[in-house]
Amino acid sequence: MKVLSDIGLIGLAVMGENLILNMANKGFTVTAYNRSTDKVESFINGRAKDKSIRGAYSIEALVSSLSTPRKVMLMVKAGGVVDNVIEQLIPHLDKGDIIIDGGNTHFPDSNRRSKYLESKGLLYIGTGVSGGEEGALTGPSIMPGGSAAAWPAVKDIFQTISAKVEDGTPCCDWVGEGGAGHFVKMVHNGIEYGDMQLICEAYQIMKDLLGMSADEMHAVFADWNEGELDSYLIEITRDILAFKEDGEPLIDKILDTAGQKGTGKWTAVSALEQGVPLTLIGEAVFARCLSAQKDERVLASGILSGPKPAFEGDKKAFIEDIRQALLASKIVSYAQGYMLLRETANELGWDLNYGGIALMWRGGCIIRSTFLNKIKDAFDKNHDLTNLMIDDYFVEKLHAAQSGWRTVVATAAMNGVPTPTLSSALSYFDGYRSARLPANLLQAQRDYFGAHTYERIDKPRKEFFHTNWTGRG
Ligand code: NAP
Repeated sequence: MKVLSDIGLIGLAVMGENLILNMANKGFTVTAYNRSTDKVESFINGRAKDKSIRGAYSIEALVSSLSTPRKVMLMVKAGGVVDNVIEQLIPHLDKGDIIIDGGNTHFPDSNRRSKYLESKGLLYIGTGVSGGEEGALTGPSIMPGGSAAAWPAVKDIFQTISAKVEDGTPCCDWVGEGGAGHFVKMVHNGIEYGDMQLICEAYQIMKDLLGMSADEMHAVFADWNEGELDSYLIEITRDILAFKEDGEPLIDKILDTAGQKGTGKWTAVSALEQGVPLTLIGEAVFARCLSAQKDERVLASGILSGPKPAFEGDKKAFIEDIRQALLASKIVSYAQGYMLLRETANELGWDLNYGGIALMWRGGCIIRSTFLNKIKDAFDKNHDLTNLMIDDYFVEKLHAAQSGWRTVVATAAMNGVPTPTLSSALSYFDGYRSARLPANLLQAQRDYFGAHTYERIDKPRKEFFHTNWTGRG
């Protein structure tokens, strides 16, 4: 083993252990430390045995085992724990040393920590790591941001351990200053919420409206995964639908209440704060909230009635319509997600590489899909693209999908099958392509009750008018 380690890692839970093993498997020397030191002991004598991994039983020992500039990566519980560990590290570090937070940190915390550590002469990297336990071991998508001066020192380690796309390009590149890396990871997670909910709606339509079995749906998802919807989430859905327990599909036995850890909510809240219409991800978060109200839904199901789903028509053609609806809605979701990236970057002064972000998400992470190549192409063609939906490739796809998409949303509505994301995506599409929306009436209402004034289409912009709507003095 080398005299000094290339990097130290604090936090020996699933993510930390697997990242350390990934680094060691790729030729780096790593020092591992954990608050409960029994985990260091068991890791060193277990999974880490005979690898270029050494254990440390104190922060001081960890730091003194590292080559300079020292690089210490934290894979601990997000939140106050990170601040706590940072404070423990600071007295042992020298100017130019680097603290890396690889947890699911909310990006404003990374903005704050980046400034704080730089004020102490240290460097900070806040990085998204996606791909779960398996990705951490075999190649995650890594989205680093923070102190730009730290990037050259960690680039080789991060790009070597990250996932790669077909031509070998790493799914890891510098994102931007401050909390930019964690912000991009947050939007990734929001998009993940959207993709998952869209697939769930396709599943419910096939199950409840078309009366398809899990095996039949498995075949549909297997087919979809061969085409332009090819993605990790479609692939695992295919496999989930085929999974049997005692000869029966396990999916039918799983309680229909979704959990969430908060990154989807952060994305939706950021969108509200930025005034970005991130409707699909918002609906996806709310769909999970509604699913969690199981007892209320069971009660309401005996009180509120609606149409009994019954499909009459060409089932095969309708399944193709569902595929089109899914594809078009996915385009809307990514268009909205990228709009949030752009607006936030403008506000915080980040120069984000939008095509590069698509490439980082192309492999290793939960939303990985071939579709992301097309997003990269769109931003390579035009870095200043305002909305993905107006890129030539996506215009063509949306136009081709439109008829099937409308058929699915309308048929589902007529049959009482909820489609919060498929239908909100269609509403957004129709709103975005409308040169005139009914906000003229809204402005009149605001002026009526609150004298909020309005602009006129027959006068220059920024000239404001008020009307005495009631004629009263
Ligand atoms: P975790 O369950 O989020 O955190 C456990 C780790 O945090 C343990 O090493 C624990 O040490 C340490 N810890 C907790 N409280 C501490 C404290 N007060 N002081 C010092 N250390 C403390 O672990 P994880 O699932 O591996 O995730 C690590 C980070 O990656 C999290 O931010 C998570 O959100 C993020 N992440 C997780 C996944 C995933 O699939 N699990 C995927 C992407 C990102 P002890 O053993 O001493 O308790």
